[in-house]
Amino acid sequence: MKITAVEPFIVHLPVTGSSISDSTHNITHWGVVGTRIVTDGGLIGYGFTGTHAHLASDRLITSCISGCYAPLLLGEDANDRTRLWTKLARSPALQWVGRSGITQLALAAVDVALWDLAAKQAQAPLWKYLGGARTERLEAYNTDIGWLSYDLPTMLDLTRKAVEEDGFTRIKIKVGHADPAVDIARLEAVRRQVGPDVRVAVDGNGKWDLPTCKRFCARASELDLFWFEEPTWYDDVGGHAQLARSTNIPVALGEQLYTIDAFRSFIEAGAVHYVQSDVTRLGGITEYVQVADLAHAHRLPVAPHAGEMSQVHVHLSYWHPASTILEYIPWIKDHFEEPIEVREGVYSLPQQPGASTTLLADSMAYFGKSLA
Ligand SMILES: [Mg+2]
Repeated sequence: MKITAVEPFIVHLPVTGSSISDSTHNITHWGVVGTRIVTDGGLIGYGFTGTHAHLASDRLITSCISGCYAPLLLGEDANDRTRLWTKLARSPALQWVGRSGITQLALAAVDVALWDLAAKQAQAPLWKYLGGARTERLEAYNTDIGWLSYDLPTMLDLTRKAVEEDGFTRIKIKVGHADPAVDIARLEAVRRQVGPDVRVAVDGNGKWDLPTCKRFCARASELDLFWFEEPTWYDDVGGHAQLARSTNIPVALGEQLYTIDAFRSFIEAGAVHYVQSDVTRLGGITEYVQVADLAHAHRLPVAPHAGEMSQVHVHLSYWHPASTILEYIPWIKDHFEEPIEVREGVYSLPQQPGASTTLLADSMAYFGKSLA
């Protein structure tokens, strides 16, 4: 399965409503930025990372794929994933400027495309190719009902619909107002509405400093929160470790961590309880599996962050033994040949060969952006 062409793409797909916000970001589209990898037998793999649809920085990623990685891939056997991962990630010139950021996001896209190819060649969905499903029931949690930009009546209405009509038993609410008392009031209203049985997680997106996090946790301790995600600055190992020791609310993080080394630092410091690895920010599936194994060795649950809106993580979560629950945000699913699907709060098991990353040609044409 020789690689004959590497064809990067940028696709910007609209979010729910006209825009959404959390404590740190305000976006109108999700960026699906990646590459098709074409092989001599005719099979084509699709891989991508997730961005905030900022065209200038998206073009840095596709430029890295076409200018730096494609020359290292052309003519190679697409099945040599481990060797190719090392060839790209440890290329001296790229290692010098990379190891995180743009080069890692580009590597993620390439690596996912290679795994998609391997599973397609085996004519199996990725979870089956990896070794089969560990469970018949992968629960979803709904993030799309709890954006910080939603006023309270809107959030309560969406929450009611998600729980009562769509069958979700797990939801996530964004927090991070300048005064955490505002967030506490919103969460108390949510808890009153959903009752004690629905699992409610919160996500701060790294906004607050450590003292503010501690004040929030002290007041939130009666709300039975499932986890507090990205409480403070993404790279602050010591701060998260302090918080984890001081509250009964579990800490979740990982969506901003680029390497297995970063995860090791947080895990060894006791700074994380739910490991939120993401194939689109780590170096693809290859490094994701290493992080999931690391978490498993520490008996920590993995709950991926959905930078690819769970198209790939649904496979990994059905398969990997450290997996628990999986985020659900329905922004981009309808643009794939095999969209993710959640029924009564449970993910459907993908059936088509590959990693569920094959974009619809019509979507690529209509929402695609020029690479230059
Ligand atoms: Mg998050």
